[in-house]
Amino acid sequence: MARQSPARKRLLVEATKRYYQALPGSPAEEHLASRGLLGQSVAAETDRYRLGYVADPLPGHEPYRGMLAIPYLRATLDGQWSVATIRFRCLRPNCEHADHGKYMSLPGDPPRLYNTLAIVNNDDPIGITEGEFDAQTASLCGIPTTGVPGADAWRPHFRDAFAGFERVWVMYDGDKAGRMFATKVLADLPNGVGIPMPDKEDVSSFVAAHGRGALLERIKT
Ligand SMILES: [Zn+2]
Repeated sequence: MARQSPARKRLLVEATKRYYQALPGSPAEEHLASRGLLGQSVAAETDRYRLGYVADPLPGHEPYRGMLAIPYLRATLDGQWSVATIRFRCLRPNCEHADHGKYMSLPGDPPRLYNTLAIVNNDDPIGITEGEFDAQTASLCGIPTTGVPGADAWRPHFRDAFAGFERVWVMYDGDKAGRMFATKVLADLPNGVGIPMPDKEDVSSFVAAHGRGALLERIKT
C-alpha cells in the first residue's frame, strides 16, 4: 500500500480537526441527527468517529465545501490517532453533481477499510459492512464493525486484517450488488459468515426499522 508523505498526513489530521470543530450546528450535524443512525447521543458518536463538516476547506479540499466529512481514523503506536484518508458526502438537495448522494474519495485514493479501530480493539466477534454508516450502525449495536467503501471496493489484501478472528460477520445489503459483495468477501475469508439483510434493506435501514436487538438476533440465527 502506498505510503503517505508526512505533509499529507499532517494535512489530513488538520482537516479532520477543522471539519470536526465545524460540525456543531452545521447542515451535516442536522443530517446525521435526522437519519437517526447514530443513536440517542449524536454528539458521542460524532466524537468517536470525528465526523465533520467542510465549512472552510483546506487547500485541495475546495470541491468538498459544504459536505459531510468522514475521516478514516487509524491508531498509531504512541496511542494517538492518524487519518488514512477522508471521504465526503454532498448534502445539498439541489446540487449540480452528476453522482449526487454518492460518497466521494480524494483523487487517486485507493479503497481502504473504514473503522479499523474496531480491529485493533477487539478479539471476537467482528463485522464487515458495505459503507461507513452501516459500519457505525453495526458497531453501535455491539458488533465492532469495519466498513468497505462501496459494494465493489473489496480488495483481496483486506483479508489480512481479519485473518486472526474466529468469525467475521459479513453483513450485506438485500440486493444484487450486496449479494455480489458478499460472494467476493466470503471467497477471501474462510472465517467469514454471510448475514443477508432483507430485500432492499441495508444494515442502517434494518436497524432503524427493527431496532438494535434485531440485528443481533439476525446474526445469531
Ligand atoms: Zn451534490
